[in-house]
Amino acid sequence: DVCVLGSFMKDLVASAERRPLPGETLHGTGFAEFLGGKGVNQAIAAARMGARTAIVGTIGEDRYGEEFLELLKTDGVDTDWVVRHPELGTGVGLPLVLPDGSNSIIIVSRANSAITATDVEDAAEVLTSSAVLSVQLELPVEASRAALRLASAAGVTTILTPAPVGPVDPSLGAYVDILVPNEVEAAALTGLDCDDESQLPKIARKLADEWDLRGCVITLGGRGVFVLDRSGTSNSNGGEEIRIPGHTVATVDTVGAGDAFCGSLAASLASGAALADAVRLANAAGALSTTVNGAAASAPDRAAAQALLDA
Ligand code: ADP
Repeated sequence: DVCVLGSFMKDLVASAERRPLPGETLHGTGFAEFLGGKGVNQAIAAARMGARTAIVGTIGEDRYGEEFLELLKTDGVDTDWVVRHPELGTGVGLPLVLPDGSNSIIIVSRANSAITATDVEDAAEVLTSSAVLSVQLELPVEASRAALRLASAAGVTTILTPAPVGPVDPSLGAYVDILVPNEVEAAALTGLDCDDESQLPKIARKLADEWDLRGCVITLGGRGVFVLDRSGTSNSNGGEEIRIPGHTVATVDTVGAGDAFCGSLAASLASGAALADAVRLANAAGALSTTVNGAAASAPDRAAAQALLDA
């Protein structure tokens, strides 16, 4: 089973020809709503990969919260551990998209920011009985730490996506087995450049040493993935380096690729796959997610990911 601790974000997307000036009211050219947040996206991706999946997080007692519960239930995600905050509403994101595809985003975390270590401890049963726990950095760090600590002590494999990019609390390191940064996050954490292929082993080793990791998985967008797998070796030296190229697909929207990748990785590891094999399936799932618009809605099912791998 997979457990995801993470955020719920309702995105209300406006399109416009340009950004409004201070004090200006500007007519937009389009509007769309999406249900997302890294936690939700990863949980749905894991469930579609065939894992029994539960999500832990906080939403409001509002309409957006209801929408999330419905969406998650449609994909078979266990929502029994979701806490509904009595005052704060469900988290929202307000992106403004310009004609060239660039965007400016306001995020209001609302209920997401209210989750406490105690809320997480109340979900100890599901956190400690899963095979894999996946955590990102959109929630207060005390909550993330509490979940990783509980799971790690119970022998659950823990995955951390260090996103959104920013400083990471070093106290999380002791409880993480597998770190999954993208290029930007890996560069921010090490000060080294992921564009330079020859640096990738060094970057992964640096992170693996600092975090005492079992595995470091650096996602490289369309270029695929670099993996340092230290399971089966002593964590001081060695480990297997695996470079997996990206799949060539008809990409239309890369938003949420990392979440589709991580959710699939968690599901595959939970089913007992070795890290390299789990990453291969996740690499296919991440690629397929870019062929569909949206984030949560774009994760593929296991059969589609397997078919791309076998093609
Ligand atoms: P994030 O979405 O966090 O920035 P990446 O862009 O690295 O993460 O994407 C995560 C994974 O999704 C990649 O490692 C790859 O497997 C897949 N992926 C992303 N973009 C593409 C693409 N354009 N073509 C093929 N696969 C992609």
